[in-house]
Amino acid sequence: MPDIFYKIIDHMIAAFTFDLGRYLIAAGALSILLWVFGKWSDARRIQTRRAGIADYKREFLSSMRTVAVFGLTTISTVLLESAGIVKVMTSETVWPLFALQLVAMILAHDAYFYWMHRWLHTKTMFRFSHLHHHKSRTPTPWAAYSFSSFEAMTEAAFVPIYLLAISVLFGGMYPFAIFLFLAHMIVRNVIGHAGVEILPAGWLNGPLGWITTTTHHDLHHSQGNSNFGLYFTWWDRMMGTEHPEYEERFNMVAKPIELSVSAAANASIAAFTTLIVVNTALFA
Ligand SMILES: [Zn+2]
Ligand SMILES: [Zn+2]
Repeated sequence: MPDIFYKIIDHMIAAFTFDLGRYLIAAGALSILLWVFGKWSDARRIQTRRAGIADYKREFLSSMRTVAVFGLTTISTVLLESAGIVKVMTSETVWPLFALQLVAMILAHDAYFYWMHRWLHTKTMFRFSHLHHHKSRTPTPWAAYSFSSFEAMTEAAFVPIYLLAISVLFGGMYPFAIFLFLAHMIVRNVIGHAGVEILPAGWLNGPLGWITTTTHHDLHHSQGNSNFGLYFTWWDRMMGTEHPEYEERFNMVAKPIELSVSAAANASIAAFTTLIVVNTALFA
């Protein structure tokens, strides 16, 4: 067989391992932590309704379909890079530039997600593609990739489109900045679907209150038509789509509980560290 086939097979194995790995590790780590800190998480559960076995099964199986779509997108992006169309920077890392690249990609994805999500909530698109994600009225971390095939493609499209644009405009970005973007994306995604508010009481009035919480996305699942944002609250606030009771609902679940803040912080740090360490091992 010609070398190119072996190369494509190698890329396929790496891409699927990476896309499957980050989903399993992030959703698995958060589920374990919520279970280990069961008393704490029960006190901070956002809805009284609990997800059933059928919900977990649907979320997991449709996430496997999304992994396949993401894997194909990753392979296409890697092949575009091999062909020199998508460019990555191999020069020594200039850290301020690295940070700028990472922040810019997160901000661009937040805007892309908000407007794509608004579009998916139009009548026709909702029935055609987004309804599947909203079958999770009480989401669990496993709902992070629970999309219809069409939604998986629109979600996946951002990375190759963004990398192509950056390659044309700025000659590419650092591969590790792309990796951290992907790690941040899955971590925030599973946290948004946790069903348990992990952020401390008073978060919304603190200096980082513009970072979305689990309550923010949970309200989107339980009530629809508000809170379309992903990482930040800016777009919802600007476009008047924030849930009118967001703050009230957040304050109801994020009550100050003895030691709860440090438990939540430790849990988040442990989950994030596990994700980075294992993903680095898979990606290397
Ligand atoms: Zn939605
Ligand atoms: Zn969701």
